[in-house]
Amino acid sequence: MYVANPEQERKEILKRYRALLNAWNTGAEMKNKRMVRKAFNLAVNAHKDMRRKSGEPYIYHPLEVARIVAGEIGLGETSIICALLHDVVEDTDYTIDDMRRMFGDKVARIIDGLTKIKELFDHNTTSAQAENFRKMLLTLSDDVRVILIKLADRLHNMRTLGSMTHEKQLKIASETIYLFAPLAHRLGLYAIKSELEDLALKYTEPEIYNSIARKLEETSAERTKFINKFIYPIKKALLAQGLVFDIIGREKSIYSIWQKMKAKQVPFEEVFDIFAVRIIIDTSYENEKYQCWQAYSIVTDFYSPKQNRLRDWISTPKANGYESLHTTVMSHSGQWVEVQIRTKRMNEIAEKGYAAHWKYKEKTSGESGLDRWLNKIKELLQSPDSNALAFLDEFKLNLFADEIIVFTPKGEVKTLPSNSTALDFAYNIHSEIGNHCIGAKVNHKLVPLNNVLKSGDQVEIITSKKQSPREEWINYVVTARAKSFIKDALKEQRKKFTEEGRVKLEDLFRQLKIDMNRNSLLRLQECNHISSTIDLYYRVAKDEIGLKEIKDCMQQHDKSGWLNLITRPFVRSKPSIPHKFAEEVKQQLINKEISTNGNAEVEYRISDCCNPIPGDEVIGFVPPDGGIWIHRTNCPEAIQLMSKYGNRIVKINWEGAEAGTFLSGIRLVGFDNMGLLNEIVNIISSQLNLNIRSFHIDSTGDVFEATIMLLVHSTDDLNKLMTQLKKVKGINNVYRISRLADTPAR
Ligand code: MN
Repeated sequence: MYVANPEQERKEILKRYRALLNAWNTGAEMKNKRMVRKAFNLAVNAHKDMRRKSGEPYIYHPLEVARIVAGEIGLGETSIICALLHDVVEDTDYTIDDMRRMFGDKVARIIDGLTKIKELFDHNTTSAQAENFRKMLLTLSDDVRVILIKLADRLHNMRTLGSMTHEKQLKIASETIYLFAPLAHRLGLYAIKSELEDLALKYTEPEIYNSIARKLEETSAERTKFINKFIYPIKKALLAQGLVFDIIGREKSIYSIWQKMKAKQVPFEEVFDIFAVRIIIDTSYENEKYQCWQAYSIVTDFYSPKQNRLRDWISTPKANGYESLHTTVMSHSGQWVEVQIRTKRMNEIAEKGYAAHWKYKEKTSGESGLDRWLNKIKELLQSPDSNALAFLDEFKLNLFADEIIVFTPKGEVKTLPSNSTALDFAYNIHSEIGNHCIGAKVNHKLVPLNNVLKSGDQVEIITSKKQSPREEWINYVVTARAKSFIKDALKEQRKKFTEEGRVKLEDLFRQLKIDMNRNSLLRLQECNHISSTIDLYYRVAKDEIGLKEIKDCMQQHDKSGWLNLITRPFVRSKPSIPHKFAEEVKQQLINKEISTNGNAEVEYRISDCCNPIPGDEVIGFVPPDGGIWIHRTNCPEAIQLMSKYGNRIVKINWEGAEAGTFLSGIRLVGFDNMGLLNEIVNIISSQLNLNIRSFHIDSTGDVFEATIMLLVHSTDDLNKLMTQLKKVKGINNVYRISRLADTPAR
């Protein structure tokens, strides 16, 4: 519990203010502290009666955000002032005009942007998260500092998330993973990105976070020994050649280790590249490239490099400004080690991102990567018909995608997401070029328009006036821009076809002497699985539905009426969760003003993507059509839902639900021996009295893998079962899965 002590707090505020000035002062130039002091005084005064959830004075927060902005992102005076004042307009009586009068137009505009974003994210009772994010990016084009300060704000909120309610923690952590960490990555703020990811994991999956953190600590001494041995000869040789450098072993973040464990389905012990060795060379700008390659040559003198693992981001930096030389080499003890070679300047950019880049800007030339990135975002925002959700997904895809760099025939550089095709390239140049593209010449060789481009390709697009976009083109492209242009063109074409199809269908019905009315149209749609009349006309116009199809459908329908009734898809019965539980949730719904469509009872549905069972940490999602979907909190779909529709998430607890049974699964790996299967079934059915739903077994040689889906009451059942099975001789590993097709859940 935090106990307020005014005198101590006053000292602490001044201490934190000095820490801010120190962080700022690491830069060389002379600082004028007058305006920063003024902002500080104003913020202290404005927030003087406010406290954070933890009980601490509110002013700690803007002070810490300003310190991150100065020290960890490397921004200057204007940004520090804005960070100090970022919550003032939102939370106190001061207005934007006050800010303008006291601190000038630039500061006022940035604070205005921050206030708007805050409104979007903190009071999201009306609009969905996706739309908020879109709006946020719109403000981004005004001044990129808005987004950088917002990231600092989010980072400090994540660092202090402990005092929030659990529900709030999950919402904020999900948003962070879904939006803010990728954004930080995209801006080249690697250190902030990793910290955001780790903190999010800490709150969404505390057990996993803690277990990895513990294991990292336990193995730390061993790792240090290994690294020292590995770098010893390199160090000696670098010194002998007169290089000035630092060489360190860098641990991977907990989050990225966890990602790797999941992707490769291996335990912690089998994630070998838990660290990378980094060589940071101190040299002049002119000598950078030469000395980095010199170091590369020394490293590979001692250790042989892995084929195809050399990444040269020095000759062509990533679009977010990242420069480095990466290689993976074989150590003498048979372990692969990633070695990163870069200069001090490159390292600072990699850690702090663009703000650091700006400092060196006068030394580089041409359009900066940041401008290019901002332009790309503007382009995306202006793309036609992007509804907010589709936009968010596509944008996210673009954020995560790695990039390739290709050239126009004139040698102009274009940056595209990897897996882009010739058609993406065409749309990147102009929508008309895309719409009329029939193929391309890649490095002077003729290729089809779905040819996937590689970095370094030179691409020339071939067009024809007769060409127009086709349905399958959607599958040929990966960029959001190309997709939305193609969709638009197809929609236009569709409109034209609709009228043609309607006339044609009228004629067909007339030939068959059937009335063309609502009923007959619906019937025809139903047996061809078409959802709208427009689509029906379209398919008729394209001759996909003709006389024969209509005849078949009308006849079949007559005799199969009763059959429809019994072949209806199986409806899942709802789990038996008692009403006491329902009452609590209903109260939450009322608080959030979400209707349950007048139903007296709320219907629970267990999501089959993650198959939660009592004992799991879960959330409830209320879709607009009523009912509540229950997901595990670590389910990827739940994370998406939480970040997109934070206001539709309700807290669920399982109290009393163990009366029912729930589908879950386990997978076991072991060595086949006589009677083993028998023993497994015996434990499940006879000893623990659980019902098996399905049992799949795969064996290669002596090794077998069994996947068992079964009905359990709670995680207790499952844990008991797994402990028992682990004791069986021959079984090597047992883990939980959610679905038959799943990778391990935990
Ligand atoms: Mn804030």
